[in-house]
Amino acid sequence: MIDQTVPGLHAGVKILHDPVRNKGTAYTEAERDALKLRGLLPPRIHSMAEQELRVLGNIRAKTTDLERYLYLVALQDRNENLFYRVVINHLEEMMPIIYTPTVGKACQEFQHIFRKPRGFYVSLGDKGRVKEILQNWPHKDVRIIVITDGERILGLGDLGADGMGIPIGKLALYSACAGIHPTQCMPVMLDVGTNNENLLNDPLYNGLERRRVRGKDYDELFDEFITAAKELFPGVLIQIEDFGNTNAFRLLEQYRGNTCLFDDDIQGTGAVAVAGVIAAMRITGGKLADQKILFLGAGEAGIGIADVFVSALKEKGMNEEEARKHCWFVDSKGLLVAGRDNIAVHKEPYAHEHESITGFADAVEALKPTAILGLSGQPRTFTREVIEAMARINERPVIFALSNPTSQAECTAEQAYTWSAGRAIFASGSPFDPVKLGNQLFVPGQGNNAYIFPGVGLGVIVSRSRIVTDEMFLAAAHSLANQVTEADLERGRVYPALSRIRQVSALIARDVAKIAYDSGFTDREEPDDILADIHEYMYHPVYPHYA
Ligand code: NAD
Repeated sequence: MIDQTVPGLHAGVKILHDPVRNKGTAYTEAERDALKLRGLLPPRIHSMAEQELRVLGNIRAKTTDLERYLYLVALQDRNENLFYRVVINHLEEMMPIIYTPTVGKACQEFQHIFRKPRGFYVSLGDKGRVKEILQNWPHKDVRIIVITDGERILGLGDLGADGMGIPIGKLALYSACAGIHPTQCMPVMLDVGTNNENLLNDPLYNGLERRRVRGKDYDELFDEFITAAKELFPGVLIQIEDFGNTNAFRLLEQYRGNTCLFDDDIQGTGAVAVAGVIAAMRITGGKLADQKILFLGAGEAGIGIADVFVSALKEKGMNEEEARKHCWFVDSKGLLVAGRDNIAVHKEPYAHEHESITGFADAVEALKPTAILGLSGQPRTFTREVIEAMARINERPVIFALSNPTSQAECTAEQAYTWSAGRAIFASGSPFDPVKLGNQLFVPGQGNNAYIFPGVGLGVIVSRSRIVTDEMFLAAAHSLANQVTEADLERGRVYPALSRIRQVSALIARDVAKIAYDSGFTDREEPDDILADIHEYMYHPVYPHYA
């Protein structure tokens, strides 16, 4: 038996090294006495606001976003409350660092920038004892798990175990944007190998040195994890994240009926993009039922959006078959048409009768869509020709370049506005700066799932819903679209300002929780005021008092 106690390490010292309880220089005089911290801290007591100023100064002095990311990760490791205070109070500045696009760069560099482990790793060697090792996790009241197998990280492909940055980043957004308590969040990496040769050849790579396993071994490990997580953390919500295409659709279908689980790339993206389209209708004056969307990319994100859009049209009384005809896809093999060879199951509902077309620009000319949505991970594929055609066909073309990170966006904000002579209603997955055209300033909206998943998760967690349904994502889309103000729309922005995201998430959570109560998905009694109940649960980064 290894003696893990360090002689003489008293509770006060431990508290300084515990990110959940550490307050740094903010401990009061009384706390310093009670916790035996005298002498271990400089004498001056700082307020949290002063500490925040110091952090901001440090972050802004860094010269690259990756350095800012590392600084913030280190802060999260030593003082979680201060980390969240900084992130929440400066969300527009911090989100691109703790999430896309910088998190993508961090994942690509993960093996080189690795300092301290965060999150939980389950790998092939753990098969048969996943429940046992899960008990090593220090927090017992886990309410949400974000799990990835690293096969399709953002638009960057297979990053294996280095994809851990994504569940960590997503869960930071759950806490920042929706007030899920950080200790109730668990990032998980399911390491089943990688097919990324660069990683396999890199001696510093942290993951398994083997190619990806598929089939029975993969399925058994995934299932063992889900079963163990449900047993140890009853009612836990599981978000599957950045899995490769074939596993994502398959696992979602397999588990969604009996596990509190959703796939953010499919369902969350669906809701956020549809919210943008609904809000865009308030600018164009058009009707949802008159829209024809042409997608570039028929993967998890594209199909996920089409599915939510079809639900929105069905809600308006359209039948499913008719609704699907409002969604067209161009993928790496050209226009998705009936009779094309080897159509994947998830694409089949959208393979319509039409002659074959290879190029996206030709598809735009032939189909005359009202909206084009880019989810291909292929940069600069919305060419000048495409955008000019959209502007010729439509008075106000909807152009969403949703691929992440910024480097993969189908076009830039500037290109969309310039080539459409300022008429495009543009949104992107990663942020773009405002664009000035003549004397008009356009503020592009960020069609990022961060508007949806934190609110949906919050609603599910607080209501204790047993499942997550498509109806909840459609409700979230409506809720988000309703929260876009006239002032947002005037500047061309079809999403609310990020600075309002906690209110946005709370209202989404209310609408999601209402569905859970009304549909009997929970044993919890509906509170008199669902919104107040949600606010009461939400975490705020303030220091506790210890004396
Ligand atoms: P995926 O791998 O499941 O699908 C990619 C699709 O793009 C496939 O259908 C593929 O055939 C198609 N494609 C590839 N090259 C192409 C080309 N040259 N021309 C046309 N089609 C091509 O990936 P996914 O999960 O659907 O994600 C796609 C992109 O969407 C990624 O960049 C991801 O970051 C982004 N995304 C953004 C958000 C958001 O919040 N905005 C959410 C989810 C995904």
